Amino acid sequence: MTTVDLRTLRLRPGEVRKETLDVEVEPFVLGGQRYESVPTTIPVELEISQASGATVFDLRLGLHLTGACMRCLGFAELDRQVAAREFSDPDAPASDELHSDYVVRDHLHVSTWARDAIALELPDQILCRPDCAGLCPVCGKDLNVEPHEHLERDPDPRWAALEALRDELDVR
Ligand SMILES: [Zn+2]
Ligand SMILES: [Zn+2]
Repeated sequence: MTTVDLRTLRLRPGEVRKETLDVEVEPFVLGGQRYESVPTTIPVELEISQASGATVFDLRLGLHLTGACMRCLGFAELDRQVAAREFSDPDAPASDELHSDYVVRDHLHVSTWARDAIALELPDQILCRPDCAGLCPVCGKDLNVEPHEHLERDPDPRWAALEALRDELDVR
């Protein structure tokens, strides 16, 4: 858990402090699949400035995430640039925009904030490629590797046996 002790900053109004912190990004579980940051620990750029009344936090990071394609379960990866901003005024009421949920007892919880900011940037579908054909709903084969269709009604061997029997009965 990476945090910044805000008491040690002692920023004057207008002053800007830049820091790069190493933050461990826990895997994300989406649609039952696990997506991991590569590498697990990434540099997060933090810019802290003192405006009148509130401290302003800017976060910036680049993420490379890998996991399974949600359609074909093949390898999928994505890159995202994530930016987020928070404000903190210790005197602001809890419901106020100036009251950041990531500032707890004079500590900025960078890990939690980075994770939430990443989660907001993730697409609904993580795919190996935008036009992934997925798995065949009938036989489960990968339609990217083996494009195919099934006939409306596949002949079922039991039906075939009945047909044969009916033909036999007709003949008599
Ligand atoms: Zn795929
Ligand atoms: Zn099939």
